[in-house]
Formats: sequence, C-alpha cells, structure tokens
Amino acid sequence: MDGLLQEDLATLSDLDEKSLLESLSERFKQNQIYTYIGDILVAINPSKYLPIYEKEVSERYKCHEKTALPPHIFAVADRAYQSMLGRLATGPRNQCIVISGESCSNRGFCGSTVESGAGKTESTKLLLRQIMELSRANSQLEQQILQVNPLLEAFGNAQTVMNNNSSRFGKYIQLRFHNSAVKGAKINEYLLEKSRVVQQDEGERNFHIFYCMLAGISQEDKEIYGLLDPTQYRYLNGRYGTEDMVHVWSEKYSEVSNAMDMVGFEEQEKVAEKSSGWLKATAGQFGVQEEELLRSLTCTMSMTRGEAIRRFHNQQQAEDARDSIAKVAYGRVFGWIVSKVNELLAPDVDLDVQLSEIGILDIFGFENFTVNRYEQICINLANEQLQYFFNHHIFLMEQKEYKEEGIEWDTIEFKDNKPILDLFLTKPFGIFSLLDEQSAFPQATDKTFVDKLNNKFKSHPHFEVVRSHNPLFTVLHYAGKVQYNGSGFLEKNRDTIPGSIRGLFINSVTPLLSVLFTATISRTGTLMPRKAKLVQTADDNFNSTRKQSVGAQFRHSLAVLMEKMFAANPHFVRCIKPNSNKQPDQVDSNIMMDQLRYNGLLETIRIRRDGFSWRPSFKEFAERYSILLLKPHLPLNKESCMSILNITELHGWKCGTSRLFFKYVHEEELARLLDRF
Ligand code: ATP
Ligand code: MG
Repeated sequence: MDGLLQEDLATLSDLDEKSLLESLSERFKQNQIYTYIGDILVAINPSKYLPIYEKEVSERYKCHEKTALPPHIFAVADRAYQSMLGRLATGPRNQCIVISGESCSNRGFCGSTVESGAGKTESTKLLLRQIMELSRANSQLEQQILQVNPLLEAFGNAQTVMNNNSSRFGKYIQLRFHNSAVKGAKINEYLLEKSRVVQQDEGERNFHIFYCMLAGISQEDKEIYGLLDPTQYRYLNGRYGTEDMVHVWSEKYSEVSNAMDMVGFEEQEKVAEKSSGWLKATAGQFGVQEEELLRSLTCTMSMTRGEAIRRFHNQQQAEDARDSIAKVAYGRVFGWIVSKVNELLAPDVDLDVQLSEIGILDIFGFENFTVNRYEQICINLANEQLQYFFNHHIFLMEQKEYKEEGIEWDTIEFKDNKPILDLFLTKPFGIFSLLDEQSAFPQATDKTFVDKLNNKFKSHPHFEVVRSHNPLFTVLHYAGKVQYNGSGFLEKNRDTIPGSIRGLFINSVTPLLSVLFTATISRTGTLMPRKAKLVQTADDNFNSTRKQSVGAQFRHSLAVLMEKMFAANPHFVRCIKPNSNKQPDQVDSNIMMDQLRYNGLLETIRIRRDGFSWRPSFKEFAERYSILLLKPHLPLNKESCMSILNITELHGWKCGTSRLFFKYVHEEELARLLDRF
C-alpha cells in the first residue's frame, strides 16, 4: 500500500508530525476522510456530501472485520455493538463512544480558538443511525430514538460564525439494550448556553427554533399565540432572513413538529393563550397576570424585619430582569424537553432485567475567545476531564500495566493534565470551591474572588496572575493558555431566580410553565418536587431561593458522567476540521497541525503502534478461548493460555505475570477463530 495512504497510522514506520499531516491530507484529498490510529478513529470534516453513508455501505459494515474494510464511522458503531454483546474481547459490556472535536488555533498566547464545526454532532448522528440498524430495533422505538436529535438540535443548536448548526449544549446519549435489541434511551444535557436567548454576537443567531417557529406557524396560529413580525423581536437582533431561508426554516418547523409527535409529545403541551399588545401578548404566552409580569420587570421586593419593601428598577435593572426571565424560561423549557424525552424513551422492561448500554458523548470542545467568561471555564473544565479520560486509557493505565507485569517498554511521555484538574477541583481550595465559597458570601465581589485566586495560586504552574484593574486571571490548560474575565462569575455561579419571577411562573395558567417552576429538574433528568432539592427561605415570593451553585451542579454531573465512562469500554473518535472557512477540499496545514498537536495524536500513534491495547487476565482469556482446544474445563491459568495460543498463528503478543498483552488486531483474529466453532 502507498505509504501516504495508510489506513491505519499505527502502522506508519516513519513517524513525525510532518508525515502524519501528509498522510491525513493526502487521504483527505482523495475523499478518504476516515483514518485509524489503531482502534481510534480520526475523522476529517469534508464539508460536502460524500456517498459513503448509503444503505449498501451500512450493510457492508455490519458485523465485519475491521481490517477488511476501509476506516469508517460505521465500523466504530459495529465495534461498540459487538463488544457490548461480548462478541469481541473480554471487558465491560457497557460501552462509551467519546467524540471529541478539535481545539485549535491558540497560536501565540491568545486569539480566537475555533473549536466548532469539526463534525462531532454529525458523527454522533451517523453512529446512532448505524447502531439502530445493527440492533434491529422495533420500528417505532427506532424512529423515536432517531427523532430525538432533530428535536434537541432545534432547541439547542444555533448558527455561529464557525458552524451553521453549532451545538450550544453538550449531551450524552445512552442507548439501552437487552441482549441485542435496543429497549430505550436516555439523554443527559450539559450547560445549555442560555445567554444566547437574549444576546448574540455579530454573525451569529439565536436558537434555530425561534426562526423555524416564526417561519412555519400558520397566520391563524400566530394570532392565537400573539406572535409579532420577526423584525419586532429584540432577541432576534433585527436579523431575520431571506425568502430562501424562511422557506428552509418553515420546512424545518414541520420536521420539528413531526419529531415532537413521533417522540410522543402531546398537543396541549405546545399551546398558549390568545392575546394582543406586547405586555398582554407576553403575559399571554407565559400564561401569567399582566400586572404581576409588569411588577417583576419594574421592581424588586425584599423583606426587612417582616416588612415588604418595594424598590423600583432603573432601566438597566429592568432590562436585566427581562433578560433573566427569558433565560430562565428557555433553560427550563429545554430541561423539560429533555426530561420528557427521557420519560418517553425509558425502557419498558421489568426492573430485574439487566440492560447494557452504549453511550455516545458529544460535547462542546475547548474554547478560547478574546473574552472568556464563566461559560468558558465550565466548558474547558469538561474538556480537561475528557482529556484526562483519554490520557488515562491510552497512556496511564497501559504503561502502568507494562511496568507492573514486567513487559519491556520505553515509556512514552505525554502531557498529564491531572495537576490542572486538581487546580480546578481540589476541595476546599480549588478554583471552583473558592468560587462557591465567595458566591455564598454576600459581601464578596468578582474582584475579591479573583484576588483570592491570585493569592492562593500565584505560584501554581498552571495559573498566572494578570495585573489589571479588571478581574482577570489566566489558566494554562492542556490545550493552551486561556485568560478568563471574572466579571459575572459570582452571579452566574449563584444563578438565583428572583423570588418574584418564580412566583410569577408558579401562578402561570400555562400548565407547563407552572410545573417547571414548581418542580426542579433533578440530576437524573426527571422532574422532582422542588422541596426535595431546594432549601426554601421564609417567604418564597419575596426572597431568592438558595440552591446548589451552577458550578457544583455541573461538577456533580461531570463526576457522574466520568464514573459511568470509567466503568465502560471506551471508543474514541477524534474529529478534525481541515480549514476554518467551512470549505470543502481545502486543507490549511497550520490549522490541521494545531489540532494534531493538541490532541496528542503523535504520541497516540506511537503507543498504538508499539503498545498492546487489549490486556486480558489469564483467567479471562482461558475462560473465553478454551473452546479453541475443545476442552471447556481447562484450569484458568497461564499454562492453559499458552496451550491455546500455541494452536493459533498469532504473533507479536506478550505475556506478563498475570495477564496477556495483545494488539487490537489480535482480538479480531481470535474472534474469527471462535466463529468457526
Ligand atoms: P459544534 O462544536 O459547533 O457543535 P460540531 O463538531 O458538532 O460543531 P457538526 O455540526 O457535526 O460540528 O458539523 C458541522 C458541519 O460540517 C455540518 O453541519 C455539516 O455541514 C458538515 N459535516 C460534518 N461532518 C460531515 C460529514 N461526515 N459529511 C458531510 N458533511 C459533514
Ligand atoms: Mg455539535
């Protein structure tokens, strides 16, 4: 095979950054967008249609041998599915597929990082589709599961400078199986970018659903809902669209409505009251009293020594109140959609039925903008966690085992980001703990928070003090330096909904809103009675409700996710963007190289080339393969393993003190031998 067109980079003998870039670019030019690094799939976004996902291709990739067909995302689906069924190597039955995007740019020390549009979400959809094909789901459930994505995308995706369909939330989709058949699904969502509802930067848009709704709803319904002309909406920024776009949105609106029907949403969950005039219309849409809405926009109430005090807002405060109503309502509706989907797709099986899982993770990549805020620090923490997960599997665990088991091995150095994770997460003095401590302290400000950080971490190798009047600080992430602006950190971390606004919605006659504000959405995604989660204060209508901080909730959901992922068998897909203009057939070598570096792909190739990714214990191996000797009752020890291996023609494996060390291709060779029995 032509060296440059190698399908598996782990077989490249001549290995440096340049040859890696050349191989990938050369393949890409020939429309070969997928390449393996051992068991890891690298996917380069073609930004154009390629005829490689047709039914016939999908069929070919069912239950195939990886080496027999060119690299493909369908092969990853197949591998995860076969592993879940126990047809491939030993190991946990639960699988997780981690799809990560590029984190590029960051050239020099700042500038814009373009982490978006690498193809993560498209890969997720292709995986989902192929896994459904493999599992021969019953057709209704299959359709329901496949409709979840368009639904979530309508409410959670938006056009950005980088990507016309950028995900503004992270998600983990768990498919649940009994034996080979899918029985249901569950979604976890992370960090919806609520601020987009009220504000979008130049060249960006609000969430798709607003445009679709305005384009797709009939005139009659528009009147019922009190919808105005699109140009009248401040939150759309006066940017609507051309005739062509309106046509596309309108079609999308029917798709979303269909998806909602198909997943099982009911009509009355989508209706509102007839009304006219802006206050009346808004009050009508929220199903609340006009006077109450006006009051919560124009003043705050507080209790002092048993007396209710009313303070009128200035214009800025009134605008903030307006924006916080919009953000909180949108966030709650999104959370509700997800929990409703989870309810509708929950597996309908007895409690004692053991289900196995394939999880697919599609979350926002590393971000580094000119100004980085609270949202960015949360997103970047998630990326540090993911990088740690990757390093842990690919480098740490593997090399630790070589050492323990006495396998000869030249250690491969990699950038261990554990110290950065500790900087964020250590209790009680990590960045997030300090933020929580300051958030709970009424006199604290963003400045005092950053002062605390400076004081605590001034000599930390991954922290830099910034001399400025503004509350700035810098973190040295695995992917590069990011300067954060601490303004708004405390407020966003507290995320308190003023009691008056909550009271307003609780009394809403729109059943959905009333439920959303009376209940809270639990970490597992289901609606819980509010009392179970929130600490209520004396007079709930006047005071804000204290609850766990946003940072604490996010850290908790990340920890739950990591626990799940660490207990599963991982598969990695690394998505790469070949240029930053959404253009087909264009390779920008600098942009590509940045991504290869930050992803640590060179080190990954080395460990996949020289290393042993499958490491079963003697017991696991003998148990599974003794049938090859036609002796099912062999003792489960090293000698039995050697006898089994003697009759195979495998070479290149090694034997440790308690386990065997194989290349990923060995797994398939053994599976082939097993198939003969
Ligand atoms: P974000 O982080 O912004 O959500 P992303 O990594 O999820 O970005 P996608 O939305 O998956 O990126 O991809 C961006 C666009 O690139 C898609 O809308 C599509 O036009 C194109 N694209 C991605 N993958 C493919 C593919 N395999 N074939 C054809 N086009 C693709
Ligand atoms: Mg996406």
